[in-house]
Amino acid sequence: MVDQDRELFSGSQSIADREQLLLARFAIHSADTKGRKYPERIQEYRGPFQRDRDRIIHTAAHRRLSHKTQVFTNELGDYHRNRLTHTLEVCSIARTIARALKINEDLVEAMALMHDIGHPPFGHSGEDVLDECLINDGGFSHNQHALRIVEFLENRYPDFPGLNLSFETLEGQQYRAAKKEVEASPSLEAQIVDAADSIAYDSHDADDALELGLLDIAQLTEVLIWKNTVTKVSEGRNLSPVTLRRTVVHELIDLQVKDLLKNATSELKRLQLKSADEVKALNPIVRHSGQILRQKKDLEAFLMQNVYRHPNVMDVRDKAQQALRNLFEVLKNNPQLLPTSYRQRAEEMGLNRTIGDYLAGMTDRFAWREHARLNSN
Ligand code: MG
Repeated sequence: MVDQDRELFSGSQSIADREQLLLARFAIHSADTKGRKYPERIQEYRGPFQRDRDRIIHTAAHRRLSHKTQVFTNELGDYHRNRLTHTLEVCSIARTIARALKINEDLVEAMALMHDIGHPPFGHSGEDVLDECLINDGGFSHNQHALRIVEFLENRYPDFPGLNLSFETLEGQQYRAAKKEVEASPSLEAQIVDAADSIAYDSHDADDALELGLLDIAQLTEVLIWKNTVTKVSEGRNLSPVTLRRTVVHELIDLQVKDLLKNATSELKRLQLKSADEVKALNPIVRHSGQILRQKKDLEAFLMQNVYRHPNVMDVRDKAQQALRNLFEVLKNNPQLLPTSYRQRAEEMGLNRTIGDYLAGMTDRFAWREHARLNSN
């Protein structure tokens, strides 16, 4: 019994052994982590990336994602995705891909949970307003703000600011924040999160738009990837419109994941990588075939035209943008209305950036409430 217990828990060596057994040589192994900015003791029962994942899950910013817009605001209904459910769906798809490719699932999970944590209220509409308000202060991007949250704004530990995440977890988000300017490829783990994000929103935004009645299912048959999938799932059976839609959505995810895995597997076989470091000098490996990539682009163009620019969506977008712009203005002209901790921080960080941090942390409903309250006098 005692020996069995020892086998069940033998500390960090068992984490290294487990990864040695399950992960490919080109995955990032916990034992090879470059560590944290503020050195911490190794925890025997959890690897560094498991620990990062847990720290992210326990942030206020993560919890607040449940009341932040993905594409459609919550007054439209309860079916569609919010920023939290989207994050969890990305996480689920990314973990599946990681496990199939023998890449570090814990690191992928941590990065997936962080990928949208910097979103302000009202999704990209809110992001555009903050970027405009902070134009002379470095602008605002949700990817950059995610780093600010985990490195500076979430204070939950007495010995360091932020979450003190591992170098590799931060590096994945740094790549997202600087995407256009970076030539090196990110880790395979970060590539997987990027791909899973795109698979999730391409499939789910269509599903949500159909549920909300912004789209008619017949309209989508002009999109090849949707049309082919409808043909495939309806073969030899008569599905009700709702079942057809839901079947198409999960089939679309399956189609994209399979395509990605097939492509990445053949690339990895061809390249015969010996370590995770070699990935940086190569073109991205976790990517779709040319055919699926083209079909995804067509679907995205369709969604842009018919969903993201739908009059109902634009109407909500305009109102939300006006409210957020107004909040920024009111607080800029009346900094005494900021909570005490923010007023103190404004002296150090500058007023505009501090207001940006405060507004970016708000959920949609808190932003509406504050907008009503500050304009009631
Ligand atoms: Mg996302």
